[in-house]
Amino acid sequence: MSHDIETGDDQQAVRYARTHQWLALADLALGISLMLLALASGSSARLRGGAERVSRRFSTAVYASIGIALMSLISLPLNFYSGHVIERRFELSNESPVSWFADWLKGAVLGALLGATFAQGAHWVMRRWPRRWWAVLSAMLVPVSVLMVNLAPVLILPLFNKFEPIADEEMEVRIKKLAAHQGVTVSQVMTMNMSKQTKKANAFFTGVGNTKRIVLADTMLEAFTPEEIEVVLAHELGHQVHRDLWKLILLQTPLTLGSFFAMQHVAPPLLHRCGAAWNIRAEDGVRDPAALPLLALVGTGFSVLSAPIVNAVVRRAVEHRADVYSLHLTNNPSAFVTAMRKLGTMNLADPDPPRLIKWFFHNHPTLKERIEFAERFDAD
Ligand SMILES: [Zn+2]
Repeated sequence: MSHDIETGDDQQAVRYARTHQWLALADLALGISLMLLALASGSSARLRGGAERVSRRFSTAVYASIGIALMSLISLPLNFYSGHVIERRFELSNESPVSWFADWLKGAVLGALLGATFAQGAHWVMRRWPRRWWAVLSAMLVPVSVLMVNLAPVLILPLFNKFEPIADEEMEVRIKKLAAHQGVTVSQVMTMNMSKQTKKANAFFTGVGNTKRIVLADTMLEAFTPEEIEVVLAHELGHQVHRDLWKLILLQTPLTLGSFFAMQHVAPPLLHRCGAAWNIRAEDGVRDPAALPLLALVGTGFSVLSAPIVNAVVRRAVEHRADVYSLHLTNNPSAFVTAMRKLGTMNLADPDPPRLIKWFFHNHPTLKERIEFAERFDAD
């Protein structure tokens, strides 16, 4: 194996990536500590008592919205540091602190509302099916996920950015022609003002059913050549053709099932030992709103442990396949390579992260892998 001499850009990218990875670990540690503290100090039980005085019927929703809002507030300094200060330091941010804070506030309110609705619904299912709630709830979450993926592009994403049909008609005609060759009707192509927040570039496929669309960042339209945009569009078209969002929803189902199953089987023995000290009601057990931090801890542990598996599946079965699709459709490996290099430079992407970091943080093949694959790709 040859050892490439790193360029200045690469060193900068590695520093940027490591900084964010350490901050993600710090955020995880903070979340875990806060949940343990909420349980052990009895604050969780006190918050549940307060929530019940507000509304007996919706005590879970009241508990969860206040709990999530408090957690967001305590994490605010760390999130500001990673989301704004670091982005400024690496000259990637296009935002004022006020504009960053406005987005953060919207996200926090949305998180509290969605979290409260979900927790209230989950407790209703847990009371109705005390032994099999984990299976019932996982099954119910499938249509809920489909609805969320359907609504996100029209209700949630526009809260943060403006989305418009792509103005570049030449580009749209090009991709539609390419797609028509394959007998595919391309869904709507839209552009998003990502430059409001950042100098980074991105493109993604989102939505299901009547809301599916390919989205290109304005930053990408500005910096990429038509050929480079074409390979990116073709990659996203690959996601549409492969029905990847449906696949991801289906992949999520066994994970949700496993996570809820773990909650139902790990939490009760712990409550048996510590529940009294934490003032969790023995007769309610895992259904006591005050036990929600414990369930969240089990869920967090489960998602951290399953992340390498999920990432590996997405890297191979979703993202690499979309790259292959793009290369076949456009037959332009050199544009693919320059597009990847540009993306790497603009986003300060670590081209070749250590394996452990790849397992836990990367759901795309690394830049080095994507470029090497395109270079090996036989343009026939
Ligand atoms: Zn992709």
